[in-house]
Amino acid sequence: MGRRVVVLGGGFGGLQAAIELERVLPKEDEVLLVSDQNFLLFTPLLPQIASSRLDPRHIAQTIREIRGKRRFRFRRDTVQSIDLTARRVVLASGVVDYDVLIIGLGSRSHYFGIGGAREYTWNFKTLEDAVVLRDHLLDMCEHADHTTEEAVRRAILTFVIVGGGYTGVELITELSDFLFGYVARRYRGISAPEIRLLLLEATPEILRGIPEGLKAHALQQLKSRGIEVRTSAKVTRCGEEYVEINGSETIRSATIVWSAGVWANALVESLPGPHDRAGRAVVNSSLQLEGHPEVFVIGDSAAAATASASSSAPGAPQVAPVAMAHGEVAARNAAHFVKGEPMEAYSYKNKGMLVSLGMDYAVVSIGRLQFSGYLAWLFWNAVHLYKLVGLKKQLEVAIDWMMGTVFPGDASILRRPRRCKICEGAAARAVGAAGGQSDAQSR
Ligand SMILES: Cc1cc2nc3c(=O)[nH]c(=O)nc-3n(C[C@H](O)[C@H](O)[C@H](O)COP(=O)(O)OP(=O)(O)OC[C@H]3O[C@@H](n4cnc5c(N)ncnc54)[C@H](O)[C@@H]3O)c2cc1C
Repeated sequence: MGRRVVVLGGGFGGLQAAIELERVLPKEDEVLLVSDQNFLLFTPLLPQIASSRLDPRHIAQTIREIRGKRRFRFRRDTVQSIDLTARRVVLASGVVDYDVLIIGLGSRSHYFGIGGAREYTWNFKTLEDAVVLRDHLLDMCEHADHTTEEAVRRAILTFVIVGGGYTGVELITELSDFLFGYVARRYRGISAPEIRLLLLEATPEILRGIPEGLKAHALQQLKSRGIEVRTSAKVTRCGEEYVEINGSETIRSATIVWSAGVWANALVESLPGPHDRAGRAVVNSSLQLEGHPEVFVIGDSAAAATASASSSAPGAPQVAPVAMAHGEVAARNAAHFVKGEPMEAYSYKNKGMLVSLGMDYAVVSIGRLQFSGYLAWLFWNAVHLYKLVGLKKQLEVAIDWMMGTVFPGDASILRRPRRCKICEGAAARAVGAAGGQSDAQSR
């Protein structure tokens, strides 16, 4: 009788595992992929959703499209718990038994216990986060367009990104392009000098891991785009309309985006055995969970011991290429496990770093090759187009990019934005002060 291999999580790692399992497992074995979203999100382009450069659907590829004619089954469902003893997964709409389990449930934001950070900052992990943030940014611009109170204008035109890693830097440069390139030109009530973009990094350096020369170019580029970079600026508290730095300085802002830390999925955190400082399950070099050789953990969920001498074991960085490599190795090891064969060891290889800094500049570091500027940006584009799954998505993104060079961006607010306490206060004061007089502040 065939065995059942269940893969949890349809992200970069889980999907790669399902595809590889199909290749290496005997036909009578069953592969089931379970994920709570029915698409693969191409996260490297997420900042371009917040800046209106790309249409959200263009970076989401449905799992059934990617699957094509492959055999594996897909079930859109939410994993609620994993019973390792009974070899059973409890889903929102039923239970599934497994012989082998591959866990690729990704990660979530880490707030380091900072008061108010979880409640009052904007998360930036999912497609929905990016769409909601985009609408909020536009909502702030709409309010600023007609609000007259100086202090309120300053707060709603101050955009803070917490975290000077790759995502924070790419996001703030995208926002800079959009706010200075589109908003300051089209919103008659907003002028460019009023827009404040602030990148806060707790450690003394941004873009940790990239060579010093490239970092200097990146810093220079951020400054030239009107972005204030504050290093050694530790966020110590957040409120609905402020962020506190180093316990002493308070900056008023209606937009504080959290991009400062990553923590393992709650289900992974609750797995038995050791975990690393990011809550990831520590697994051996075959990606197996301690005491459960039939369970493999991959991608952002795993801190894997690695055979590679070039990395600080355990645990490679939480990036897509690592998740995909884990997925492949775990799938092959799942097949080895059911066939009683020796396991393969995962070995981390650093494939380099590509960071986009807006519409025409990037920094690239691949092995000994290091360059920055427009050519690097073209290279960044080419690599990301190539990595998108499917010709349809590649064309959609390429066309969005081309359209963006010819036509202005799109500032339509698609969802009802969340309440903004600062804006509501200003509106109430404006109505009270007008006392029934007509207000002609629409530009
Ligand atoms: C904004 C942003 C930008 C990034 N940019 C880059 C980049 O430029 N380059 C790069 O290499 N990496 C980048 N990354 C990191 C990269 O996206 C991750 O390292 C990678 O996605 C990890 O793959 P994974 O398979 O482990 O998890 P994920 O891809 O996160 O997949 C996890 C899947 O599990 C599903 N899931 C979670 N919980 C449940 C549940 N309870 N039930 C069912 N399903 C569940 C999720 O919906 C998701 O589909 C970025 C990440 C973000 C957030």
